Amino acid sequence: MIFDTHAHYYDSAFDPDRDALLSALPEKGVRLAVCPGCDLDSSRASLALAERYDYLYAAAGFHPENLEGAALAALDQVRELCAHPKAVAVGEIGLDYYWVRTPEGRANARDFFDAQLSLAQQLDLPAIVHDRDAHKDCLDIVRAHPDSRGVFHCYSGSLEDARVLVDRGWMLSFTGNITFKNARRAPEVLRWLPLDRLMLETDAPYMAPEPHRGERCDSSLIPLMAATVAQLRGLTTEEVLEITLENGKRFFNIKEG
Ligand SMILES: [Zn+2]
Repeated sequence: MIFDTHAHYYDSAFDPDRDALLSALPEKGVRLAVCPGCDLDSSRASLALAERYDYLYAAAGFHPENLEGAALAALDQVRELCAHPKAVAVGEIGLDYYWVRTPEGRANARDFFDAQLSLAQQLDLPAIVHDRDAHKDCLDIVRAHPDSRGVFHCYSGSLEDARVLVDRGWMLSFTGNITFKNARRAPEVLRWLPLDRLMLETDAPYMAPEPHRGERCDSSLIPLMAATVAQLRGLTTEEVLEITLENGKRFFNIKEG
């Protein structure tokens, strides 16, 4: 009963065998998955995949690394894409100060994040937030939208920041990086996190869990993340999968699956 809340199946890493892989995932226990876009083309591609596979849902938005040449007016098209019956979130959006280094680039990314979080609120959709090396500014923008709801995906922040998000009703989602031997902050956060705020994801094709680190990842590997959480919380892997399935369905307002 796997719910992979974040997998980029339009990525070219899946070009050789996308349909064979996606057709086979339900037999491997995948009940639901969400494919977030990173710009208009990938958001459209996510929705097209969601139309083909019942268990697949999509999100539309501009990733902070994909803002080159984009204007805020393009958010009108994100709004239109979000009207699709299988669009369940605005995303992925956020800030990435690892890749975006210039002050102008970062200011532009903050404008996009701010506007897309407002859009999510207007559409009554959750937001899928990418935060890399930009914890403080991400939290400031979330604080400026007190009625927004969302998830920090591939959570990499501190326990202190996690408390701020949880107090605001937000979710945290974790990838295969929690299985890495050098994982430090994530285990601390996972030992504390209220279980109703937890979601799991692959961020496929990246972030494959141990012992597949560095390989192409897909949703069938989610039980390896669940096993890590189970160990930290004294639960079974099955229990963690069930909890994260229910959390994801509630968060994305998905009735089936
Ligand atoms: Zn992603």
